[in-house]
Amino acid sequence: CGIVGYYTFNVRKDLQSVLDILFNGLKRLEYRGYDSAGIAFDVVDAYPLVHQADGREAIVEENGVFESTGPLIIKEVGKVDALERMAYDTVARDQLDLQREYRSQVGIAHTRWATHGPPSAVNSHPIPSDPEAQFVVVHNGIITNYNLIKDFLIKHGETFVTETDTEVIPKLCKFVYERLSEKVPFPKLVMEVLKKLEGAYAVLVKSTHYPGELVACKRGSPMILGIKEDANVRRTSFNRLHDARDIKWRQESIECYIASDASAVIEHTKRVIVLEDNDVLHLCGGGYGIYNTEGANVEEAVPRVLLTL
Ligand code: GLU
Repeated sequence: CGIVGYYTFNVRKDLQSVLDILFNGLKRLEYRGYDSAGIAFDVVDAYPLVHQADGREAIVEENGVFESTGPLIIKEVGKVDALERMAYDTVARDQLDLQREYRSQVGIAHTRWATHGPPSAVNSHPIPSDPEAQFVVVHNGIITNYNLIKDFLIKHGETFVTETDTEVIPKLCKFVYERLSEKVPFPKLVMEVLKKLEGAYAVLVKSTHYPGELVACKRGSPMILGIKEDANVRRTSFNRLHDARDIKWRQESIECYIASDASAVIEHTKRVIVLEDNDVLHLCGGGYGIYNTEGANVEEAVPRVLLTL
C-alpha cells in the first residue's frame, strides 16, 4: 500500500542513516493502512573489495569489480515498529556495524495491504526472484493477469514461494535477463517485463546484476521522486550500460527519495517530480532518466517540472 525508495551516489551514509530513511519513510505512509511491511538494502562494503591470497581484503583500485551478493531482506506481519525491532535484531545477529558505511546506494521499503495471498512474512514485500535475490521488487496495486504469467513461468521451471500476484514481476525480470543475448540497460529489461503486465502498479526494482541502480515505474498508482535540494540534476542516457567503474571519476553526488506520496519525501527535500502513468524512472551513476515504455526519454520534448513544495 505504500512504497519508499532511497538512492544515493557519491554520498557517504552509514547503515544507521539508511535505516532511518527507510523506516521514517514507512512511518509517514502508515496512515494509508497496511497489514505487513518490509525493507531491502545492501550491506556490501562501501568500496569494492577483493579477497587476496593471504585471506585479507584489499580495495580494488582499477577495474573495480563489484560483488553482487543479494541484499538483506527483512519483512514481517504487523506494524512498522515491529519490523524496525526485527531489523535491529538482524543487524546485531549479523554483526553489522550501524556506524559503518556499507554500499547501500539503493534501499527499498514497503507497507502491504494484502490483495492476493494472506498477510504473512513470506507474502510481504520486498519479494525476491529467487534465493539469491537477483531481482527484488516492492509493488503497490494488482497485476490482474498474474495467473497467466505464473502458469507460463511454472511451465519454464520456476517455483513460486508466495501466494501474491507480485511475485511474477521479479521472476519475469529474471526470466528475461537469463534469455538476453547481450546485457541491456536496467530500464530496458524492466520495460520488457512491463509489456507483459496488466493491472495497476507502482513498482521499484533492484538487482544484483545492476548494483547501485534503481528502476521505478508506475501505472494507475501514485509515485513521486524527490531530489535533494543541492543535488546537481543530471540526466542518464538510456542506451548506455552503466559501468560501476565510472563511480571513481564522477564528482557529482545525488540523493533521491521515491515514495507513494509526498509526505514521505518532504522531510528530505521540497524538490519533487510527480511521475506520470507509464513512466519508467532510472536512477544510476548519479543521474536520473524518465522514459516511456518504448524507451524514449519523455523529457526530450517537455522536461518534467521540478515542483518546489
Ligand atoms: N497485490 C499485492 C499483494 O497483495 C500488493 C498489495 C499492496 O498494494 O500493498 O501483495
